[in-house]
Amino acid sequence: MIFRSFYLALLTTVIVLPSCNAQSHQNETIYQYATINALMEGGYDGELTMKNLQKKGDFGIGTFNALDGEMIGFDNHFYKIKSDGKAYPVKSSTLTPFAVVTHFKTELKHDTSLILNLKELYNLLDSLSPNKNLYVAYKIKVVCPKIKTRSVAQQTKPYPKMIEAVKKQSVFESNNSSGTLVGFRFPEYMQGLNVPGYHFHYIADDKQSGGHVLDLTGSDFKIEIDFMDDFELKIPNNPEFNKLNLTKTKLEDLEKVEK
Ligand SMILES: [Zn+2]
Repeated sequence: MIFRSFYLALLTTVIVLPSCNAQSHQNETIYQYATINALMEGGYDGELTMKNLQKKGDFGIGTFNALDGEMIGFDNHFYKIKSDGKAYPVKSSTLTPFAVVTHFKTELKHDTSLILNLKELYNLLDSLSPNKNLYVAYKIKVVCPKIKTRSVAQQTKPYPKMIEAVKKQSVFESNNSSGTLVGFRFPEYMQGLNVPGYHFHYIADDKQSGGHVLDLTGSDFKIEIDFMDDFELKIPNNPEFNKLNLTKTKLEDLEKVEK
């Protein structure tokens, strides 16, 4: 443990940017469209266009109508990783049934050359962002000797619940991939609205692979963190959404789908 701490100190650098002090929180809103339980229950169609979503943030994750792939966006470029594993730029007219975005502003930077698996990365992020009641966004450049991601195939009506839809998900394993992780940590009290804990999507630098992150071994992490204390929720208002029962979703089903 002592050696581990010593190496952590030696191999990592933390830079706290001036904007991190409590007085300077500005534009610190996280914007969410729909709820995770709606997605779990098969609410796969929304009315929000990517154009309107991007007015609310230049950074985020989500999915697309009919559950057609994984969304990842950063630096104002949004992509769809389809079930063929490839990333496609998103059209401004494309609709989303669930997304979380923010105007990403780096408040804390941390680089490490340690080799970490996903659990160890989460432990490091816990130590860098210990307040678990805040909403936290992470943009992480990484080199991955191994990364395992998934994407889901476009669904047809009548839509199955997500626990059924992911049984046919495509899983991709890449070696020696370098790219960007985009994700959030939501507080446990947000259960039902979003995924409590960490949730990351990945896109390779060459845009040829990515998806929802299931596992990884990474090195050369360049971590940027944005802390938020304001949450805006917009819900779809269509007959399908309005008839969903959003009180019955089981946490263990959510964990099977998202972890
Ligand atoms: Zn995801």
